[in-house]
Amino acid sequence: MNASRTNATDSNVLDLIRPDLRGFGGYKSARTETLRGDVWLNANESAWSNPADAGALCQRYPEPQPMALRAALADLYGCAAEQLLIGRGSDEAIDLLVRALCVPGRDGVVISSPVFGMYAVSARLQDAPLIDVPLRDTERGFEPDPDALVAAALANRARLVFLCSPTNPTGRACALEEIAGLAERLAGRALLVVDEAYVEFSDVPSATSLIARFPNLVVLRTLSKAHALAAARIGVAIAAKELIAVLRACQAPYPVPAPCAELALAGLAPAALAQTRERVAVVRRERARMRDALATLPGVRRVYPSQGNYLLVRFDDADRAFAALLSTGVVVRDQRAAPQLGDALRISIGSPEQNDRVLSALAVREAAA
Ligand code: PMP
Repeated sequence: MNASRTNATDSNVLDLIRPDLRGFGGYKSARTETLRGDVWLNANESAWSNPADAGALCQRYPEPQPMALRAALADLYGCAAEQLLIGRGSDEAIDLLVRALCVPGRDGVVISSPVFGMYAVSARLQDAPLIDVPLRDTERGFEPDPDALVAAALANRARLVFLCSPTNPTGRACALEEIAGLAERLAGRALLVVDEAYVEFSDVPSATSLIARFPNLVVLRTLSKAHALAAARIGVAIAAKELIAVLRACQAPYPVPAPCAELALAGLAPAALAQTRERVAVVRRERARMRDALATLPGVRRVYPSQGNYLLVRFDDADRAFAALLSTGVVVRDQRAAPQLGDALRISIGSPEQNDRVLSALAVREAAA
């Protein structure tokens, strides 16, 4: 280990927080006070439950960070409960990070397009300069450029570098050494945020194991994809506990609705988790089958390798492919407005029957052409 690395990783990650937010405690809700009693008249709630709320789950404000769910998620992701913030999807974690780290009009956010659009949306809402270091389209697939990422972050006073792994929509996952290398080079200068919304489908393990070594590393996880709970809106940020405390102070008082917390907890019980794992295995098998089958279809220019539950496909005529799929009721994601993807569609991996419908719609299109 050289001296500059020691200094960099030892620097206090809280120095990266917006100066005006340092020491900010956030809203002190009635629910966070540690008072004891059996008549609760401190939060202007109703004394009666709603007739539709049979279990009286919603009469009182929920725990700001439901303890049982936090413990279950910490167990699932292999971190301490204090290293984890539960929010309304990873979308909320992205937004909180941008708000807590970036002084408007000054501190930048680095992305590598084409990529998930919420990083740019959150940056725009915060008036944080967006710095795009595009992915490079190579014969192995779309790859980030680590040197260019670091150079752009340092040159533009970026506070956040978003790395989506596996990347939506291009499919590649970053090796842990790549992530460690970037975190090390950004230490003391910016947070590296690894968005692992699709990591359950990947061969590459989660970067959570690196957080102990790199206080400037944040990992985002979600129950929306592999766990099939998109409407429950449960996503998490995992990071050094000091950083998690700052994000929590910036968050709404009660961000996790009690019915969603209850459902999520049930979705993490052993039997449900076993079924989730089986379905992930089906998706991985179907992904390989679809990749091979799509690649043989005439009119398909390229199918990118993918570590997510989707495939990025280039077509000779993406317009016609999109229309052909839609005419049989199959809706895929049109990527043609995204940089470098003017001829591409992103196709989620569905059930085997749904995937067959994709193949036959595209095969028929070619026969008719
Ligand atoms: N990150 C990535 C890469 C995504 O693709 C998505 C959703 N499409 C999200 C985060 C947001 O997920 P959620 O808010 O449902 O957790």
